[in-house]
Amino acid sequence: MFEQSVPGRNKASVLVVDPSAANRAQLCECLGQLPDIRILAAPSGECALAMIRENWPNMILLDTALQDTDGITLTRTIRSWERSRDEIGVSPWTPIIFLSSTSSEEILAEGILAGGDDFLCKPVSEVVLLAKIRALLRIATRQQEICHVHSQLKEIASLDSLTGIPNRRHFDDTLAVEWKRCLRTDSPLSLVLSDVDFFKQFNDIYGHQAGDVCLRAVAGSLAESLFRVEDSVARYGGEEFVAILPGTDAAGAFAVAERMRQSAHDLRIPHERGINGQVSCSFGVASMQPTVDNAPQQLLRIADAGLYAAKQAGRNRVSVSLG
Ligand code: GH3
Ligand code: MG
Ligand code: MG
Repeated sequence: MFEQSVPGRNKASVLVVDPSAANRAQLCECLGQLPDIRILAAPSGECALAMIRENWPNMILLDTALQDTDGITLTRTIRSWERSRDEIGVSPWTPIIFLSSTSSEEILAEGILAGGDDFLCKPVSEVVLLAKIRALLRIATRQQEICHVHSQLKEIASLDSLTGIPNRRHFDDTLAVEWKRCLRTDSPLSLVLSDVDFFKQFNDIYGHQAGDVCLRAVAGSLAESLFRVEDSVARYGGEEFVAILPGTDAAGAFAVAERMRQSAHDLRIPHERGINGQVSCSFGVASMQPTVDNAPQQLLRIADAGLYAAKQAGRNRVSVSLG
């Protein structure tokens, strides 16, 4: 998530980058007229970059002529750094106003192309500068609010609304990522596909709402059975769940699946048509060394075959399928 403060909610910060101490002092005094603004100042590009990384200001006033670099090059560096901080599909953005002693239209155009947002010629009118800062901070605030909502929506979109665990979409994305990671690191990848036994009858006997409560409890028990941070379990659909176990071989995955089976059974949810009068689940385990010649769908097909075998063998059990 962005660490930039949201003007209006927190104190916004403005970074002044100017090689002249007199100019910095003058600009800082001018900015002092804005309420609730934290003012930062840097004499060089290098110092400005360090301050940006550490403080992530809400706005930058940038002199085009610096001693160690020029404002346009520095702007390109800032924009590329912002892109590298894109964690949620939207790059953070810090408005940049160039302050220049030249009125060259070419430099103005180049500055905007590099990623600048406005260009003012020195000497700058205080009234104009403060008005521009207010306008850009207003836009920056909206942009940060949109980023915040975007990240919340992204999180909601990856969760299953009934059980609160990751959904099928999240599983598909994670499987694709983990498949590539295991291919790169030459390590095994395992899946554990599970399905609640006789669940149609559970719904028929106890009602659909009780069925929902049961699914929530089963999802929780499966999630609690995973101990490694890289392991995750998602609702695959209906009363089926799937766990991804990166870097785990077939023997390890069997052990995890057995723990999941036991954990679901230990919920002791009564089911008069179930195994031992209780809700239980069956599990299919698949493990593979990803290569360029096979695909994640193959792993799913093998896990599905394992699940089918577990059902055929009497349910409430784990079956490892070798494909
Ligand atoms: P098996 O042991 O072979 O898996 O039998 P089963 O009855 O569990 O399998 P079947 O596929 O016949 O039935 C699955 C049932 O799961 C039917 C469907 O209504 C129920 N189900 C799927 N999603 C939900 C849900 O979100 N809530 C509830 N309450 N029931 C669901
Ligand atoms: Mg099913
Ligand atoms: Mg079932």
